[in-house]
Amino acid sequence: MSFLQVRNLAKSFGGVQAVADVSFDLGKGELLALIGPNGAGKSTCFNLLYGNLRPDSGSVKLDGLELIGLKPRRIWRHGVGRTFQITATYGSMSVVENVQMALISDAGQSIRAYGRASNLHRDKALSLLDLVGMADQADRATNVLAYGDLKRLELAIALAHDPKLMLMDEPTAGMAPRERLALMALTANIVADRGVAVLFTEHDMDVVFEHAHRALVLNRGKLLAEGSVDEVRANAAVQEVYLGGGTTFGEGGA
Ligand code: ADP
Ligand code: MG
Repeated sequence: MSFLQVRNLAKSFGGVQAVADVSFDLGKGELLALIGPNGAGKSTCFNLLYGNLRPDSGSVKLDGLELIGLKPRRIWRHGVGRTFQITATYGSMSVVENVQMALISDAGQSIRAYGRASNLHRDKALSLLDLVGMADQADRATNVLAYGDLKRLELAIALAHDPKLMLMDEPTAGMAPRERLALMALTANIVADRGVAVLFTEHDMDVVFEHAHRALVLNRGKLLAEGSVDEVRANAAVQEVYLGGGTTFGEGGA
């Protein structure tokens, strides 16, 4: 049995079938890209997996445990992380303090504990910053960081919870092409080391082809193709959707 099993997931909004009968598997240490044109249903899939939306039908099993019906907080407790949420960082705090806060929360400690012991989890926080190449910026204020550095901090914050599955909806949005590749290369290395399963959306096809192990292609809520990135890239139906929709690989919509 695969680590993550998604079966027959469906969600409509009024008359719009945003996600229709989507099934797939994801293994530990695997990077799976979810791609497709704007409005294909990618973000809706993420919201269903993370418990922000309730599906009309379907099942999502993580290591055999049904996640449908659980609240996001519980899903997070079961080891599912979302990365790269800008709102996850406190701008006025330093970089290392932000990671310490994540570790405090992961340990189930009160944020008030931090007021009494500002070194709480500091060593572990520094080692996570080292992992993402941010140790030298540990004591800088978060709100002065360059965008790419903020993304790396957010990766460290996500890793503070030691996730088993990471859901990344457009993690590199707003980044320059070279930064995108670098951030995904870093992510790929870390998740391979830790055996984390990753589902990510990305509209830069260079990033997808470089780093994804497999890809799922959604179109109008339906799974159009699934396979290795080479198989997907060569798939005639996929080319039709991208080219016919006025978008090409490498400059797809958000
Ligand atoms: P993607 O992330 O692939 O661009 P979305 O999952 O955001 O696509 O959207 C899929 C479809 O569902 C679109 O037609 C979108 O307009 C619709 N949709 C998404 N969220 C909502 C919502 N909360 N209410 C109504 N329609 C929505
Ligand atoms: Mg989206």
